[in-house]
Amino acid sequence: MRSCSSGEFELQPNLIVAGAVLSVKSCGDSLKILNGVSHVKVIKGGRAELRCVIQGTPPLAASWVRNKKPVVDGSRLSIHTTDQESCLLIREACEKDQGNYTLCVQDQTGSTQHHTTLTVVDHPSPPSGKPLISALVPSSLTLSWSGPCYDGGSAVLNYKVEVKQGGQDSWRLLTDTCINTSYHVSSGLVPGESYQFRVQACNTYGESEPGEESEVVTMSSIAADDEAECEDTVEYTAVSINSTDRVDALYTRLEKLGVGKFGQVFKLQEKATGKIRAGKFSKARMQKDLANARAEVELMNKLHHPQLVYLVAAFHEPGWMILVMEYIAGGELFERIVADDFDHTEITSVQYMSQIITGVGHMHKQGIVHLDLKPENIVCVSKVSTKVKIVDFGLAKKLEPGVPLKVLHGTAEFVAPEVIAYEPVGFTTDMWSLGVICYILLCGESPFQGENDMETLRNITSGSWDFDDETDAILSDSAKDFIRRLLQKNMRSRLTAEQAMDHPWIKDKNISSTKTLPKERIRKFLARQKWQKTGKAVLALKRMALLSNKSDNNSPAIEEHGESEEVFSFLQEQLQKPPVFSSQLKDQAEVVGSSARFHCHIEGFPDPEVLWIFSGKPIQESKRFQIEYEDSGSCTLVILNVSLSDAGLYTCQASNAHGNAETSSKLIVHQLRAQRHSSVGAEKTA
Ligand code: ADP
Ligand code: MG
Repeated sequence: MRSCSSGEFELQPNLIVAGAVLSVKSCGDSLKILNGVSHVKVIKGGRAELRCVIQGTPPLAASWVRNKKPVVDGSRLSIHTTDQESCLLIREACEKDQGNYTLCVQDQTGSTQHHTTLTVVDHPSPPSGKPLISALVPSSLTLSWSGPCYDGGSAVLNYKVEVKQGGQDSWRLLTDTCINTSYHVSSGLVPGESYQFRVQACNTYGESEPGEESEVVTMSSIAADDEAECEDTVEYTAVSINSTDRVDALYTRLEKLGVGKFGQVFKLQEKATGKIRAGKFSKARMQKDLANARAEVELMNKLHHPQLVYLVAAFHEPGWMILVMEYIAGGELFERIVADDFDHTEITSVQYMSQIITGVGHMHKQGIVHLDLKPENIVCVSKVSTKVKIVDFGLAKKLEPGVPLKVLHGTAEFVAPEVIAYEPVGFTTDMWSLGVICYILLCGESPFQGENDMETLRNITSGSWDFDDETDAILSDSAKDFIRRLLQKNMRSRLTAEQAMDHPWIKDKNISSTKTLPKERIRKFLARQKWQKTGKAVLALKRMALLSNKSDNNSPAIEEHGESEEVFSFLQEQLQKPPVFSSQLKDQAEVVGSSARFHCHIEGFPDPEVLWIFSGKPIQESKRFQIEYEDSGSCTLVILNVSLSDAGLYTCQASNAHGNAETSSKLIVHQLRAQRHSSVGAEKTA
């Protein structure tokens, strides 16, 4: 059998077609189907004509086939075949006509076939769910909503937003050119009046029915903290990557706000406006880093919601990618919970969990999984506010229906069993991580934490966890039930975001216990995390991904290949290794006031934890002592503004489950003023 080549074809409204081409050149005696098209689009209710020119030796027989069954004439379908062509006509096309159609032709010389896909396009379905209202002040507010469940077979181009004032029947148009899933209503709202909003989605083929109506909002209901937040009115825009300007030309870099897996986050001030922002600086030396950062920008452009940090700008400079985001001032959630003035109860925990679930639920509605939910990626809006936002979409992925996605990264303590088993992930993979976060929030301990990452992963896989006697006694039954329904090994048994919002613990304000929960354990949890960060315990899972990636030269992404057993037996055998310094520290001599830099290179698996020691004491990271430990194993200590008292012996210790190693070297400090130098370090160290 042969099949003929073909092109793409887009149909005009209510038109027909399939590419019948009139001049048919002779191609010998053999049977051919000529110039059929591969794709036909028709508007719902319109007429589709699938037509192919046949070149063969009569007599010939032809049949149209769909889902392995011959297509037969009917009230809406008719087939017309001659020795030169065959045409399948579909009238009043509807969604169920969509699919693949094959024309099979037979003559005495042989047989051939041609495939055509028919798409029936329509206006979109309405935006799903109610529009949400946030940033409410006396005369303005922000609406945000989710895209439609079905886009009508053609991308949604814009949204139409309408408002209805309390007591009136008619809807008034606010905008019909909104291209994002949020809209800031800044005029026409009167303090004291009540309003409702609704949204329609539009594509090339028309507009949807109006979506659900929002809750009724009364403009005088102002919360103090909402007002503060609204000073900087949110105007979500689609960000594209700026490769022309330098971030430092447009922003002043202020203090460091945080460190993550991929980069450092600094507070920035926009020179033109004075606005404060947060800038995430990630190294992008390799194509892969660049692609990751690009993907993060692309996903963030799709994520506009009050509980998700939003992107303001993005820059690509040689070797670097910088994401400029809204600045979230309150610091990481767990830091705030342990503060002395914070009242930590189940009730406050419900407030936080419900916001986090709402944010995650919004992502899931957009078809996106976060895949790295953990306490450090949840940040408070302000020191006094009870609002939180989710940051860091560095590992987030769009889930395509029917396309299984496997990942090998995440943070050991928070990853779901299916990630470790290298099985396809789903939306409930995030819900598992939320279960772990909620457990830590209420119990102060990490449910699966082991001595090292490998042990933690084993604990998760074995699925054995419980509440200890102390917390079992304090927590309400409903809170425990909530966590149990999230920490389900079978991902299908876990609550979805929507179901979690409906769980009595989240929904019924009166059910949760008002007992004060202990903070001491959360403090310990944070201290451990900080220590791991200073000596940066690189994630076993991420390293696994890197290594298995290396083992397959052709694959751009780990998700697309390999089987769990294969990857795992590879990992188990190949990886385990005690720490080794492949490059040792070297003695340094510096002048007072200058900076010193010690560098070494560490290998080992699981990733060794690193500790720098001076005069027998661990070095704490500070403005003057900066420690960097990269995924590659490169480890650096930089000492700024060196003084005589910094002279001495510096040691870098690396340890993992298989052993320890260390390397040491001297820092010699010279007095600048005196012409002769004093080599203090040399005297101190033997
Ligand atoms: P990574 O992908 O490297 O983990 P993150 O985006 O998580 O980077 O940022 C690292 C840390 O920086 C976060 O844990 C948080 O403490 C801080 N941070 C991130 N974004 C912001 C922001 N927009 N405003 C304030 N702090 C932030
Ligand atoms: Mg992070």
